[in-house]
Amino acid sequence: MNHSCCPNVIVTYKGILAEVRAVKEIEPGEEVFTSYIDLLYPTEDRNDRLRDSYFFTCDCRECTMKEKDKEKLKIRKLNDPPSAEAVRDMIKYARNVIEEFRRAKHYKSPSELLEICELSLDKMGAVFEDSNVYMLHMMYQAMGVCLYVQDWEGALRYGQKIIRPYSKYYPSYSLNVASMWLKLGRLYMALENRPAGDKALKKAIAIMEVAHGKDHPYISEIKKELEDH
Ligand SMILES: [Zn+2]
Repeated sequence: MNHSCCPNVIVTYKGILAEVRAVKEIEPGEEVFTSYIDLLYPTEDRNDRLRDSYFFTCDCRECTMKEKDKEKLKIRKLNDPPSAEAVRDMIKYARNVIEEFRRAKHYKSPSELLEICELSLDKMGAVFEDSNVYMLHMMYQAMGVCLYVQDWEGALRYGQKIIRPYSKYYPSYSLNVASMWLKLGRLYMALENRPAGDKALKKAIAIMEVAHGKDHPYISEIKKELEDH
């Protein structure tokens, strides 16, 4: 199956069995596309990744029209807006800090990692909007560290900032979005906010019923969590 950044199917697993489900209307004879990469990032980053790992450049609709790029790279609205050069430099900084963090995960302590996240968010926040994908990337990493050290409130704070822009940037049926709703739902439940937990877990289920199929064991598991609370 070939790659597209606007895929019409999602591949999920039941044990070792791979299942392919349509997430869009597919006409007879139309090619079936899945996504090989994380679709959060703007066109240039996605294609760097595709060239590095799969040795091709994508020419899907999103890569041609780049409709989401501007929103994904959103700059903070200031009275004194940053120069084009300052924006370019900050993007370069963001890509470096993402790489630095990826390496640091192997040998730094949680509190050191959280510090990298917070410092970079501070620095990038001078130029980028909170919904900018590089901000979201570091918030997601920070959320991961908070989950690891069982700081549920901290994890929830990051998750709440991430979910709305995530839903906008990823395709309508996305496992990344479903997994974020699932994390949020479980955090709300752990923190005794049942109404919010209910709502978030149902959002996850709605996506997973399409991506995984209604009878998938993951979904029964989440439904059981809803009943137990
Ligand atoms: Zn593409």
